[in-house]
Amino acid sequence: MSTWQHVVGASRLLDPGSGLDGPGEIWIRDGTIAAITSPGAAAPAEVQPEDQVTVIDSAGTLVTPMFVDIHVHLREPGGEEHETIASGAASALRGGYAVVYTMPNTRPTCDEPQRIAHVNRLAAEAGDVEVISVSALSRGLQGERLVDLEAMAAAGAGGFSDDGAWLADERLAREALRWAARNDVLVMQHCEDFQITGPGVLHECTCVQRRGLPGIPRASEDRAVERDVRLAEEENARLHICHVSTAGAVDAIRRAQARGLPVTGEVTPHHLVLTAEDAVAGGTDFKMKPPLREQEDIDALIEALADGTLAAVATDHAPHSDARKAVGFAGAPFGAIGVETAFCVLYTRLVVPGALSLARLVESLTSSPCTVVGREAPRIAPGAPAQINWIDIETARTVDRETLVSRSHNCPFHGLSLVGWPVASLLGGALRAHFEEIGVRIRTTRQG
Ligand SMILES: [Zn+2]
Ligand SMILES: [Zn+2]
Repeated sequence: MSTWQHVVGASRLLDPGSGLDGPGEIWIRDGTIAAITSPGAAAPAEVQPEDQVTVIDSAGTLVTPMFVDIHVHLREPGGEEHETIASGAASALRGGYAVVYTMPNTRPTCDEPQRIAHVNRLAAEAGDVEVISVSALSRGLQGERLVDLEAMAAAGAGGFSDDGAWLADERLAREALRWAARNDVLVMQHCEDFQITGPGVLHECTCVQRRGLPGIPRASEDRAVERDVRLAEEENARLHICHVSTAGAVDAIRRAQARGLPVTGEVTPHHLVLTAEDAVAGGTDFKMKPPLREQEDIDALIEALADGTLAAVATDHAPHSDARKAVGFAGAPFGAIGVETAFCVLYTRLVVPGALSLARLVESLTSSPCTVVGREAPRIAPGAPAQINWIDIETARTVDRETLVSRSHNCPFHGLSLVGWPVASLLGGALRAHFEEIGVRIRTTRQG
């Protein structure tokens, strides 16, 4: 006997990675997608009279594959007052994510194989969201000695990054890229020349200067991207640029891709919709690395996301407790949370006004990030495990930092009225509701 789930009533099934876009119904057998049918079509021939069929009434929602975030910070071990693997996974699930890649700047640093095993154990206890560890490039993120790259790859590292720091030492960076090229693993660089950043806390512009705050020039990012692109080219290595924030970095990536280099980039929701002026007005929840820039950068980022120059949306979900953030711009740590609001922020601010297509937004959260890191994407296609989001693109809800699932509340979107909330997800065989009053419901259980 098989257990079936039958998804009906969706306004649209959208999986750009599988070429699926339109009305339809999904038949799921024992957790695996068995068939996509047109609305009202007969049950697949495999459904037996003794099988149990649960109907999931999608009530006019948008149905997509679940999302993959290739850049988050879950803080455990060592930062449990800000986030844990369990709270971060729950936060990700509520945002519609099935998979997150967690960065290595924990305490201790993820620079030994047993640290990956530890995260894997915690993630398995936490539930069904897959948590992949990104290994440090250098021991302790100190930029002096590389980790045992081979051992970390063997332990399951999903990529290599000194995120939070930049591997400035050119000899070491070259060595890492050379090894990565030989072994087909991915280096993910946080590109920041810290000599140019200096004491900067927000983007260098007049509104920040007027507040008497030290700025971070665009050159801090642009120079680092240019150096890394040059090294990757010389070593014939794949290179991924984290959280691109400047028009100059977009330009460097675009030129590299035009030369045929396998350079990819990601962009965060906050860099796509917020400016330095918002940061000055909004407070320390808007202080992050790289800093929020200016409209000309936002325009370049949106164009690059739309045309694929920037492959993926990644949130750089970076939880910090209220106490750590409540010390003013100069002393507060860099970072903002993001997994719970990523889709609704980008749907409301980019898709609704027509700056980005819905299909490209979904692609940049599903198949595109998976192409960057070289993994199977969640898909709505026969044979794929059922990892499905239901998204309400009608009902406006106001972001309330206090009701988010993350252990931290440093959300720069607090108070915004947004549409496009994931209201339910199907992961690990179970339908999870993200709100009390959702449209999606299990309508009936019947025999097939
Ligand atoms: Zn970073
Ligand atoms: Zn980061």
